[in-house]
Amino acid sequence: MNLVAIAQVSYLVAAVLFILSLAGLSKQTTARRGNLLGMIGMGLALAATIVLALDISVGGRGMLVTAILIAVVLLIGISVGTWRARTVEMTQMPELIAILHSFVGLAAVLVGFNSFLLEGHGAVHLIEVFLGVFIGAITFTGSIVAYLKLAAKIPSRALMLPGKHVINVALVVVSLGLGGWFVVAPNLAPLLLMTLLALALGWHLVASIGGGDMPVVVSMLNSYSGWAAAAAGFMLGNDLLIVTGALVGSSGAILSYIMCKAMNRSFISVILGGFGEGTSSASSSAVEQGEHTETSADEVAAELLAAKSVVITPGYGMAVAKAQYPVADLVSKLRERGVDVRFGVHPVAGRLPGHMNVLLAEAKVPYDVVLEMDEINDDLPETDVVLVIGANDTVNPAAQDDPDSPIAGMPVLEVWNAGHVVVFKRSMAVGYAGVQNPLFFRENTSMLFGDAKERVEDIVKAL
Ligand code: NDP
Repeated sequence: MNLVAIAQVSYLVAAVLFILSLAGLSKQTTARRGNLLGMIGMGLALAATIVLALDISVGGRGMLVTAILIAVVLLIGISVGTWRARTVEMTQMPELIAILHSFVGLAAVLVGFNSFLLEGHGAVHLIEVFLGVFIGAITFTGSIVAYLKLAAKIPSRALMLPGKHVINVALVVVSLGLGGWFVVAPNLAPLLLMTLLALALGWHLVASIGGGDMPVVVSMLNSYSGWAAAAAGFMLGNDLLIVTGALVGSSGAILSYIMCKAMNRSFISVILGGFGEGTSSASSSAVEQGEHTETSADEVAAELLAAKSVVITPGYGMAVAKAQYPVADLVSKLRERGVDVRFGVHPVAGRLPGHMNVLLAEAKVPYDVVLEMDEINDDLPETDVVLVIGANDTVNPAAQDDPDSPIAGMPVLEVWNAGHVVVFKRSMAVGYAGVQNPLFFRENTSMLFGDAKERVEDIVKAL
């Protein structure tokens, strides 16, 4: 068998490895294996692509030039990728992922233009090019806005242009018209015009989606980047890219659906924007709502020792403080003393789907005590103490009690039903959605101010 045939078989093997990788990633216990299979698949895919690219260039455009170009881009990609992966903080993962999605979008746009300029103009190919560039351009600017919002470089609230739905519909309709022109009379003008419109549409779509809906936006862009890659696969006639793009596209779509269910929202209403645009009444704004009670690490330690059952609900603040290690320590100390300790993880806690699960796994918290919101909510009334570690929006009773709240209707961890709630945070500041939390002012809630990591370490010392 020659090298080219081996490369083609490698594509097939890589596609199977990607599917096995996704299957592995669906459970914490098999996630490590899933990652490994994905890495092997990607290594194979890269090697096979290089072999095939060199083979195409033989006799034609110069094998040496192709080899040098591949070596240069690999070197740049590997250096930048390794540097970013080594330096990125866990709290910056969401924005890193958002910016990586934008690269996929940009790649699809470039492949589309390249494919139009260099290859034939059959109707099917023209439609592939048009769709690839359209989805790619939306993904590109949409992901850049998501990056800017997640990195807090622009405000996370929804941009409310007058007639925003009309703007979106108009952009799509005009793009469709340009598509017709492009297929009937293939030339650069409609393609360029549509690219500009799609770039504007991507920007506007994500800019008009408000803070609380960002989890869905991140997974939605993940899905778009998959479809953009699949479109690029069609244009390049690359089967593996089509398979991989379809896997990312459909798993992103499933994730978006799960996130929407977690937020009690319909996918369409998220895409059209709306969350965070609620009629912010005084009760749902950032105004404080009465007196709060403070507690100390020593008091909490004593209370934990007297408790039979404890639930910990982590949130974004645990990631910021890197408190997962002392938290894992606290859990093992309490379990040694016979206290029943479990975690309640909200589906959108943190800034990334599965964010808390990753942190807890990193700190080697046993999987069997990490429960999901739906599994723990019914047990909270029988729980003695709940430790809310850096969570805010995900434990906000206003989601249930205040129909005017921007997060009204979002399912939350009903921690206030427990005997006593201790909230770990540094100040009375609001969470990601910018809404004040009435939980902090309830009679059975005490605030433990300070950096979550330091406070948990204080409790461990006191124990
Ligand atoms: P929130 O973002 O609502 O609140 C986090 C809290 O942590 C803040 O109130 C902050 O208070 C506190 N905090 C920050 N740093 C520290 C620290 N070092 N020590 C102690 N406390 C700290 O967190 P949740 O996890 O409850 O909610 C997630 C929010 O993010 C939701 O609104 C969700 O929609 C959104 N989101 C989720 C995504 C996902 O995919 N999971 C993606 C994008 C957005 P203080 O400053 O006073 O310390």
